[in-house]
Amino acid sequence: MGRFSRESFVIRDKDVLREDYEPENLEERGEELDEYAGALRPVVQGWQPNNVFLYGVTGVGKTAATHVLLNELLETTDEYDDVGLNLVEINCTGLTSSYQVAVNLVNEIRSPSHPLTTVESPRSTMSETGYPQKRVFNELYDDLEDIGGTVLVVLDEIDNIGGDDDILYELPRARSHLDLDVKLGVIGISNDFKFRDNLSPKVKDTLCEEEVLFPPYDATELQNILSKRADQALFDDVFTSEVIPLCAALAAQDSGSARQALRLLRKAADIAQSESIDAGEERQITEDHVRDAKRAIERQQVVDGMHSLTRHGQYILLAMCTLTADGDTPERTKKIHEQYTKLTGEFGSEPLKRRRLHDHLSDLTLHGILEQVEDSSGRGNYNQYKLDVTFASALEALEDEFDNLGNLRRKAVRNGLIDSP
Ligand code: ADP
Ligand code: MG
Repeated sequence: MGRFSRESFVIRDKDVLREDYEPENLEERGEELDEYAGALRPVVQGWQPNNVFLYGVTGVGKTAATHVLLNELLETTDEYDDVGLNLVEINCTGLTSSYQVAVNLVNEIRSPSHPLTTVESPRSTMSETGYPQKRVFNELYDDLEDIGGTVLVVLDEIDNIGGDDDILYELPRARSHLDLDVKLGVIGISNDFKFRDNLSPKVKDTLCEEEVLFPPYDATELQNILSKRADQALFDDVFTSEVIPLCAALAAQDSGSARQALRLLRKAADIAQSESIDAGEERQITEDHVRDAKRAIERQQVVDGMHSLTRHGQYILLAMCTLTADGDTPERTKKIHEQYTKLTGEFGSEPLKRRRLHDHLSDLTLHGILEQVEDSSGRGNYNQYKLDVTFASALEALEDEFDNLGNLRRKAVRNGLIDSP
C-alpha cells in the first residue's frame, strides 16, 4: 500500500471532528440559546439592539452558539424589508488593547476574514500602529455609519484586552454621543470570568445589559454531543461501547469542554485508524485508544509548553516530577524551590531566587502543565502546586530534553506512577 493510500477503516469524515467544524445544531444548549435569542430579539423588530455579554470557560459552545444564532437572525431579518442587519466579527486573540481591537474592526470591515462578517468596504486597510486612538475610533464610526441599518459587532475572546477596555465603553455609546444613525449592538464573548468582574463599572453597566452564562458540560451532555458527531464522522460499529462515555467522563472531570472531548475522540480515532492501516484490516476504537489519546495530547501539551520554557522552567518541571515520584505533591513553593535548587546543583547551574520561581510556576500553570491548589491544612494561605498532566506525559516530554532521567523513571515505576517500560 502506498504512503498516501485512500483506504480508511475507521474515519468516514475527519473534517467533522475538526476544531473549526461547525455543527448545524447545538446539543444541550436549549436554555442558553433561548436566553441568547431573547437578548437579540429587538433586532428583528428593527429596534436598537441590546448589548450582550457571553461568558463561560473555553470549549463550551459560545462561538458555535453565536454562529448558529446570528445566521438564523440574518435569515429571519432578510424577510423584513425594514430591517437591514449587518454583522462584523473579530476574534481578539493577541489583541491586548482597545486601540488594537478598533484597528482590527476597521480592517475587518474593509477586508473581511471572519465567517460572520457580512460587510465589505472599498476603503483600504489601516496600519496597526502609528495613529492616535481618536483617529482610529473616528474611522471606525465613519465605517459603521456608512454600513448603516443595524450593525452587531461580535468581539470574540474579548478578555484578551485585559484592563484596557475603553472600546467597550465607547462603542455602545457612539450612537447617542455622536448622533449616529446606525443602530449598534455589541456582543462580547469571554472565556475568563475574572475579565467580567474586573470590567470598569461604567463598562459593566452597558456591555452586560444582557448576560448569558455558558456552564461547563457534564459527562451526560458531552456523551450526547460526541455521539451525534461520531455518527457523522465515523463508520458504524467502529468503536466499543465504552469509548464515548470515557471521552466524555475524562473531559467532564477536567474542564467540561466539548472541544477537549472532541479532541480526545479524534485522537483516539486517529490512533485506531493508523493501526488499521498498518494491519490492513479494521481495528475498533477501544478504551485503550482513548487512554493513549489522552497521553498523546497531554504529552504534546507539555512539549508545546516546554518550547516556551527557559532551561530553568524545565528544571522546575523536573523538580515537580521528582516531588511527584516521591509522593510529595501538592507541594508548597518553599519545598519546590529547595528541590529545584538541589537539581540545578546537580546540573552545575546557578538557581534562581524564590521570587523568580513564582513567575515560572505561573507560566507552567498557564500552560496547563501545573495546577495551583488551595492549601487545605488551614495553616494560612500557601500556594501549592501539583502536576496537571499525567506523570508519564511530563516525564516523556522531559526525557526529550534531559539525558539522565533513568533514576526518576525507575523510582516512578517502583511507586506505581507508571508501568515499567
Ligand atoms: P467556545 O467558543 O466556548 O470556546 P466553541 O463554540 O468553539 O467553544 O466549541 C468548541 C467545539 O465544541 C466546537 O468544535 C463546537 O462545534 C463543539 N461544540 C460545543 N458545544 C457544542 C454543542 N452544544 N453541540 C455540538 N457541538 C458543540
Ligand atoms: Mg470561542
